[in-house]
Amino acid sequence: APKIIGLTGGIGSGKTTVAKFIEDFGFPVYYSDDRAKEIVNDNEDLKLKIKELLGSDAYDKDEIYDRKFVAGKVFNDKELLQSLNEIIHPAVRLDFEDWVKKQTKYLVFKETALLFELKLHKQCYRSVLVTAEDNIRIKRVMDRDGKTYREVQSVMEKQMPEKDKIKLASCVIYNNTNLDDLKDQTERIIFEIE
Ligand code: ATP
Repeated sequence: APKIIGLTGGIGSGKTTVAKFIEDFGFPVYYSDDRAKEIVNDNEDLKLKIKELLGSDAYDKDEIYDRKFVAGKVFNDKELLQSLNEIIHPAVRLDFEDWVKKQTKYLVFKETALLFELKLHKQCYRSVLVTAEDNIRIKRVMDRDGKTYREVQSVMEKQMPEKDKIKLASCVIYNNTNLDDLKDQTERIIFEIE
């Protein structure tokens, strides 16, 4: 079985950019957050469970997951949000396990924003954290998404503090300079994993 390497980072850290570099170096990456968005539409068993919890309005007339409706329902209802997560997270885990079985490389990467928050690093052989100074991350997200400084900052404030993540990570990529440097650090980390 391949070794599973968790890949994470807060908003604007550059984890997706690192994931693309990892793919350039020939290693497969599972994008947990993207897959979660797909399986709420593709996995019939999961769909039934979500409808049971939130009602059939969780899906629109074309049977597509209604993100706005669901966001409105779980907004200010922590318990309901938790119940929803308790349905979605195991489904993503199973989907990941199926995906891993199909891989042939000795290392595979699992990109997920909540690696440490959900304690998923405990199921990984190693974990890689991508981080950068707050101001740099905020500036990059402002440029990428056209958001204001305050908007990005308020998302950042709700995430686990970087110092806590750094303590939990097996390796840390400091993404404070340019993309060439980021790619070099990524390459070094991949090939140093043993
Ligand atoms: P999110 O969690 O918000 O999706 P992320 O961690 O996946 O963020 P990326 O999307 O990879 O972060 O990077 C954020 C933005 O910053 C992107 O537009 C990316 O192209 C840019 N970026 C990342 N690293 C660098 C760098 N070293 N130099 C210049 N731009 C960078």
